[in-house]
Amino acid sequence: MITTDLKPAPIVSRFIEGLNAPQAQAVTTTEGPVLVLAGAGTGKTRALTARIAHILDQRLCQPWQILCVTFTNKAAREMKERAESLIGPPAEGLKYLGTFHSIAAQILRQHCERIGLKSNFVILDDDDQVRLIKAIFEEKGIDPKQFSSKTFGFYLDGWKNKAISPKDLQSLPPGSSIEGLDFAHGRAIALYEAYQERLKVLNAVDFGDLLLHCLHLFRANPELLSDYHQRFRYVMVDEYQDTNVAQYLWLRLLTGPTRNLCCVGDDDQSIYGWRGAEVDNILRFERDFPGATIIRLEENYRSTGHILGAASGLIAANQSRLGKTLWTGGDEGTKVKISGLWDGASEAATVCERIDNLRADGIRPKDMAILVRASFQMRAFEEALGRAHIPYIVVGGPRFFERAEIRDMVAYLRLISSEDDDLAFERIINVPKRGLGDATIAKLMAHARLGGTSTMQAVRDLLDTDELAARTKTALMGFVRDLDRWREAMASLSADQLVDRVIVESGYHDLMRSDRTSGETRLENLKELSSAMAEFPDLGAFLGHVQLTMDLEKDHGSDGVRLMTLHASKGLEFQAVFLPGWEEGIFPSQRSVDEHGLKGLEEERRLAYVGLTRARKIAEVSYVANRQVYGRWTNQLPSRFVDEIPPVHAISDSVMGYGASGVSSRFDNLTQPVYSTNLGNNLKVQMGTPHRHTPAKPVLAKGLEVGVRVFHIKFGYGKITSQDGNKLIVNFEHSGEKKVLDSFVDKA
Ligand code: ATP
Ligand code: MG
Repeated sequence: MITTDLKPAPIVSRFIEGLNAPQAQAVTTTEGPVLVLAGAGTGKTRALTARIAHILDQRLCQPWQILCVTFTNKAAREMKERAESLIGPPAEGLKYLGTFHSIAAQILRQHCERIGLKSNFVILDDDDQVRLIKAIFEEKGIDPKQFSSKTFGFYLDGWKNKAISPKDLQSLPPGSSIEGLDFAHGRAIALYEAYQERLKVLNAVDFGDLLLHCLHLFRANPELLSDYHQRFRYVMVDEYQDTNVAQYLWLRLLTGPTRNLCCVGDDDQSIYGWRGAEVDNILRFERDFPGATIIRLEENYRSTGHILGAASGLIAANQSRLGKTLWTGGDEGTKVKISGLWDGASEAATVCERIDNLRADGIRPKDMAILVRASFQMRAFEEALGRAHIPYIVVGGPRFFERAEIRDMVAYLRLISSEDDDLAFERIINVPKRGLGDATIAKLMAHARLGGTSTMQAVRDLLDTDELAARTKTALMGFVRDLDRWREAMASLSADQLVDRVIVESGYHDLMRSDRTSGETRLENLKELSSAMAEFPDLGAFLGHVQLTMDLEKDHGSDGVRLMTLHASKGLEFQAVFLPGWEEGIFPSQRSVDEHGLKGLEEERRLAYVGLTRARKIAEVSYVANRQVYGRWTNQLPSRFVDEIPPVHAISDSVMGYGASGVSSRFDNLTQPVYSTNLGNNLKVQMGTPHRHTPAKPVLAKGLEVGVRVFHIKFGYGKITSQDGNKLIVNFEHSGEKKVLDSFVDKA
C-alpha cells in the first residue's frame, strides 16, 4: 500500500476551494486507481462530487464518459444536483450516474441480443421471482409445503451476489459450505438451471442477473468491453464498503487499462453483510490495483467533538477493523444524552417532547431524525408524533399501519367486527391463499351486488346452494367457520389475545414463516400490532383508533421529522438524531447475534456507529426497562453499546444502576430518591425519579395499596398483591394474577 504524502495538489482546481488537502488530492488525482478510506462525515461524498465537477471542468472527458455508482437512486439524484450547482448544464449529461442496478440495466438494454434477450426484457421484482419459482417447483414436482419458494429465492440471491452460476455450483469441491446447496435433497443446482432457462424463455431477468449478464456479455465480447473501456474514462463508487462480489467484479471489468477507478468508503460503516456485501473488497482493492493511491481523511466536518468521541469510542470495541483516527476542529458541543426510561410509551413521549423543544429552538423537523434498528419500533413513535401533531415522514418504507401485513391483519379484524366490510373481505379472502380463483371472487361479488348484501352474506347464501365447486365450497366453509369462531371469541378474549389467535389460525403466521427474506420483520410488525392492541379495552376501540391514525397521517408536508431504520440512514446527516431502543435483543438484534455470532455483533456495532455519526449537533440514545412484546411485558437490559460510549462524552439524565450490565457510576448522579422494584429475572432495577415526561409515576393514585380490592374493566374483581411504580400486580378472582396500570382500576 502506498500512502502518499500530502503534497500540494498538482492541479489547481476551483473545486478544491474549501476542501482540505487530502480531499483536494482525491479530487485532483484523476488518473490511476484511488481509494479514499475514511470515517463518517469526513467529506468523502463531497469530495467525490467535486471530483466529477473537476473532471468535467478540465474537459478530461464528456459527462457520459463518467461511470459513477451510488448506493441509492436518491443519492444519485442528490449528487447530480450538487454537480449541477457546481458546473451547470454539463452535469445533465451524467447518464451513468446511478445505482449498480440502474446502470447495468442501461448497458444490457443496448446489447441484450448478444446474450439472447430482447431489448424489451422485463426486470422481475421479488414477488414475480417467487411466483416463477413456484411454477418451477410445480413443474419439477417439488412439494411447496415442504420447500419454501421464498427460501429458494433467498438462496438464489445469495449465489448471484457472489457471482456463482449453476455451473460454478456444479464444480464446487465436495463439502463446500455454500448456503442452500443442499436445498430440496440436493436438487438446488437443477432448480437454479431451470430457473435461468425459464427467465430466458420469458425474456426476463432478476436483479442479480442485471450484473451477471453484464459480466457474461463483456467476457464473451472482448471488443465490446474495450469499447466500454474507451467510453468509461473515469469510474467512481461511493459507499464502496457495501459492494458485494458481483458488483466488485463488474467494477473491475469495466475499469479499463487506464485503471481510473476511484472508490470511497468506510470499513466501519459496512452494514450490508447480510446482503452479501464484503468488506474484504477494500483489502482486495489494494491487491488488484497495486500502486493505488490510498487517501485517508481524518477531519470530520459533520459532528461535534462529543458525538464524534462517542462514536469513535464505541466502534473501537470492534476487533476486525482497519482502524483510523478522526478529529474535528469544531466545538465539543453537547454530550450524547443517554436516557433510561420506564417503557416504550414513555420513550416515545420523551422523544416527542424533545423534538418539540428543539423545534422551539429553531431546528426544523426535517433536520431531526429518529433512527430505529427494526421497523416494528416505528409504531410507537408514529403514534406519539401523530398525537403531538409533529409532522413526520417515514423514509424508505410505508408507515406502520400502511404496511401490507398490518393492513391484512387489520382487514381480518374489521371483518370480524363487521361482516359488511366488503373492502376488508376482498383484501384477505385469499390471503393466505385459499385456492380461490379470481373468477370465484368475482362471482361472489356479483352475487352480493345483485342481492344488495355484503359479500360475506353472499358467501353464506352461496354455501347453501350447489353453485360452487366442491373445492371452493370447502375453502369458503373453512373461512366462514374461522370467522364465526373468532367473532365468538371476541366476547372472552382481549383485543390482543384475539389478534394473536387470528394471526396463527388464519395461516398468516405460517405464511410469514415461509418468507425467508422479510418474514421475520413482518412477524415482528405483527407482534407489535398485538402489543399496540393490548392498550385498548376492545376491538372496536382499537379499530376506531386505526381509522383516526390513518386520517391524521394524510396531511404531512415534506418538512417532517424523518423516521427510518438505521440501514436507511446511511450517508445522510441531521442536526439532531434520536436513537431509541438500545436494549439487548433489539440492538444488537438477537437474530444477528444468534445467526452470525461475533461477526453479526460487529456489524450491529457498525450500525450503531452509523447511527451516532448521522448527527451534527445532538445525539440522544435511549433504552427502557420494560417493553411490551406480543402483549406481554418483558424486562429489558440496556444494550452493551450503551456501555461502550465513553462516559466523558455522555450524560445520562436518569435512572438505572444495572448490576448485570455493568453500567457504571455515571448513572449514580441521582440525587432524587429512588424506588426499587424487582422485575424478575433476578434483575434488580433502581428507578430514579422517572424522566419528567414519563407517564409512569411512582405515587399510587386513589388510595390503591397492597391488599385493597379493585375492579378492572377487563379482568373484573381482584386484590392488589404488589405494586411496581404505577403498575399493580392484582390477583383477579377469575383471571388470576395480572399486571395492570393503576389508572385502569378503581377501588371496589
Ligand atoms: P458518510 O461517511 O456519512 O457518508 P462522508 O464522508 O460522505 O460521510 P460528507 O457527507 O461528504 O461526508 O460530508 C459531511 C459533512 O461535512 C457535509 O455537511 C459536508 O458538506 C461537510 N464537509 C465536507 N467536507 C468539508 C470541508 N472541507 N469543509 C467544510 N465542510 C465540509
Ligand atoms: Mg457519504
